[in-house]
Amino acid sequence: MDLQWLRIVVVGHVDHGKSTLIGRLLHDAGALPDSRLDELRADSPADGLEWAFLLDHLREEREQERTIDSTQAFFATPRRVYRIIDAPGHREFLKNMVTGAAQADAAILVVDVEAGVLEQTRRHVALLAMLDRRHIIVAINKMDRVEGRRDAFEAVARDTLSLLAQTALTAHAVIPISARHGWNLAACAAPLEWHDGPTLFEALDSLPQPEPLSNRPLRLPVQDVYMLNGRNVIVGRIESGQLAQGQEVVSLPSGQSVRIASIERFLESRTAAEAGESIGLTLDGPVAVHRGDVLCDPDSPPPIARRFEANLLWLADDGWRQSDALLLRCATQAAECRIESVRRRTNSSTLEVIETDAKRLEATEVGHVVLSLERPIAVEELASGSSLGRFVLLKNREVCAGGTVTGHFRF
Ligand code: GDP
Repeated sequence: MDLQWLRIVVVGHVDHGKSTLIGRLLHDAGALPDSRLDELRADSPADGLEWAFLLDHLREEREQERTIDSTQAFFATPRRVYRIIDAPGHREFLKNMVTGAAQADAAILVVDVEAGVLEQTRRHVALLAMLDRRHIIVAINKMDRVEGRRDAFEAVARDTLSLLAQTALTAHAVIPISARHGWNLAACAAPLEWHDGPTLFEALDSLPQPEPLSNRPLRLPVQDVYMLNGRNVIVGRIESGQLAQGQEVVSLPSGQSVRIASIERFLESRTAAEAGESIGLTLDGPVAVHRGDVLCDPDSPPPIARRFEANLLWLADDGWRQSDALLLRCATQAAECRIESVRRRTNSSTLEVIETDAKRLEATEVGHVVLSLERPIAVEELASGSSLGRFVLLKNREVCAGGTVTGHFRF
């Protein structure tokens, strides 16, 4: 049987215990090498381990290597392997989440039982709603600070659930924990014995396994077309689906049908490839495929649109103004575009609608917008799970917003 994976992201307000929780999860799952524990003991105060340091170490190393712009950590349960892809605190967190650089299947929302729901709790919930992340486990943390009191847990659990409900999200489980002491992570602890729900590990293991991307229709955004030894070699990463030698595919937006003549990976000949692989391929006959085209399954192609509806998180410090010329990037596609209208402008830290039919958007605000492109491209609604459901906008070559497609217009 194939190893099963689940990617999780840990979100919540600063200081509510995300790093501590990640450190402790890795430890309780037995994923930490002794050398890491020794390092942690050496750095921690005499009265107990400071688990949050573990994540700081990982993050520093990652930043020195500069290989990838997000923290990654792994742990396993008997059911599957978990990859923690990021935690806020990282300066690029919002951008990574919204642009898809850090994609998660599920989220743990950490809320401090004494502090309750705060600004970044709301902002991260807004982000999860925008990204259509439906698998959310709420961990009400620092239960040791209230001696495990049930009424304290229930008050914050209620507030958190009503916050989720505001954005039409629900929680898979709501669990009282102490990240510092490991209460209710791998096993329940005496002060929380009144809790009759799952532990955090049990809740994680009960999340459904996402359908493998290779079972979905083929989407291969073309990254480049090289001329090698007199042959045109198309390179790209298969975002979903599978590909086999001899297969007929359609190139979008042109709609031209093409047949796969050969597949190569690392200079090795292949007869087939699947989602997640970066490959090179040649086609039968003359090639009219370019960077930015998307090779697709002819039986279930994505829609081609010049206008579509989207949710945007504005990231740039200077806000959006109607005269702004923008460039949209969606997978390897690029098109000049403008925001035709902002139907709703929402404050992401309070979730209040600031304005309807707005003429501006400021940093960290969410806009429900209609985008109009200078040429048609392949886009899909995010809810379909396609990577053509996310995009970024650039102003003066800098990423200024990240967005998700919520609907498209067939003209
Ligand atoms: P982050 O900013 O959300 O990553 O929060 P940290 O993990 O850095 O934790 C912030 C502070 O809260 C640190 O001093 C932690 O030691 C402390 N903390 C985290 N979890 C717990 C807990 O379960 N109980 C107690 N008493 N303190 C905690």
